[in-house]
Amino acid sequence: MAELKLSESRDLTRIERIGAHSHIRGLGLDSSLEARDVSEGMVGQTQARKAAGVILQMIKDGKIAGRAILLAGQPGTGKTAIAMGMAKSLGLETPFAMLSGSELFSLEMSKTEALMQAFRKSIGVRIKEETEVIEGEVVEIQIDRPAVSGAASKTGKLTLKTTDMETVYDLGAKMIEALGKEKVQSGDVIAIDKASGKITKLGRSFSRSRDYDAMGPQTKFVQCPDGELQKRKEVVHCVTLHEIDVINSRTQGFLALFTGDTGEIRAEVREQIDTKVAEWREEGKAEIVPGVLFIDEVHMLDIECFSFLNRALENEMAPILVVATNRGITTIRGTNYKSPHGIPIDLLDRLLIITTQPYSADEIRKILDIRCQEEDVEMSEDAKQLLTKIGHETSLRYAIHLITASALNCQKRKGKVVEVQDITRVYSLFLDVRRSTQYLMEYQKEYMF
Ligand code: ATP
Repeated sequence: MAELKLSESRDLTRIERIGAHSHIRGLGLDSSLEARDVSEGMVGQTQARKAAGVILQMIKDGKIAGRAILLAGQPGTGKTAIAMGMAKSLGLETPFAMLSGSELFSLEMSKTEALMQAFRKSIGVRIKEETEVIEGEVVEIQIDRPAVSGAASKTGKLTLKTTDMETVYDLGAKMIEALGKEKVQSGDVIAIDKASGKITKLGRSFSRSRDYDAMGPQTKFVQCPDGELQKRKEVVHCVTLHEIDVINSRTQGFLALFTGDTGEIRAEVREQIDTKVAEWREEGKAEIVPGVLFIDEVHMLDIECFSFLNRALENEMAPILVVATNRGITTIRGTNYKSPHGIPIDLLDRLLIITTQPYSADEIRKILDIRCQEEDVEMSEDAKQLLTKIGHETSLRYAIHLITASALNCQKRKGKVVEVQDITRVYSLFLDVRRSTQYLMEYQKEYMF
């Protein structure tokens, strides 16, 4: 019995780790941006997916920044799924940050600071750095006087020291033969092309230091595998503005990046960083990569947050803002005014709106199939039909939740395949919104006021 419990709880943890959108791997579009019926975990919602794909293409082409898109539609119609699909298709280099409207009110910082951090998490800086990197195998050889002797160390694999004097003498002899004794000085960097055996002097050793000198004269050999010599290489780092903020904020330090406990960052720190980044851009050392900031439940924001968004979108470094809501005409928080989606008209006016449509039974069935696969749940045909019907009549999200619950019920009765009985059992155990509301209506007198 105890064993069973243990394995059950382990399974539960595993299922928990499969997120609600873990099956989404992209937008499922073809090369002409048409939505494939079922692809990359995405089902139906073809118009919205196509529209999201067009936006994505514009982001990738670097054509838009500081624009905002609204995903509007009924609950469970895949708005978050589409945003996740966009994030997955963006590639690792484009920053993507996500937050839910209600989160802003529970963090240990002001709403606008939280929004500012989210904005800066979605703005990338591509920093270019030129470093002296020599490709190919580097053989470092220590030479006393013009003649070849002493120990040799290979720095191609960095730490390996070689005492293979054959190599030392061989390379030394080749070098002297090719360049002449008097032309070779200590600290020279010499490339030996493995393919042709050609020896070229690249210049002085860049790693020469006083300590190095004290050790005795040094000469570096570079063996290039295919004759291509590359002395300078451009190294590109991609970081977000938020990461630079945290690292430079004296109160937090970079460890806060791992704990997420960044607290508020002072405005002066950000100003300094913006100035520095602007300098780098002018010098051609850095470029800005506007990413995507996704704010779910945008109707939860209040008027202060909306004014912040309006202002932040004006900034030339602004990311693409994608917001989503399932609300119709409702009050703008912090005011007595009503407006569509609870978003002030001036912000609404600058949004490109993508709407999502309710799913057909067939589409619900396909999404449930994908989720069963994702959660590793085997379900009989009858049970799937029943679950589809439930999804159609209640909500897709409720039906998806029942997959996990019915699988646990099936496990309890030591079954292998989820059957109709498991679905009916969990359907009676867990209420959907409509039944819960009905229940409340009937019994509300017995609740606290
Ligand atoms: P809400 O307004 O309540 O926030 P939503 O529109 O954001 O809802 P989602 O959370 O995206 O809805 O969808 C509910 C569940 O259904 C998620 O697990 C999501 O991954 C899945 N889903 C929704 N639409 C699709 C789709 N077109 N293809 C595949 N899975 C989908």
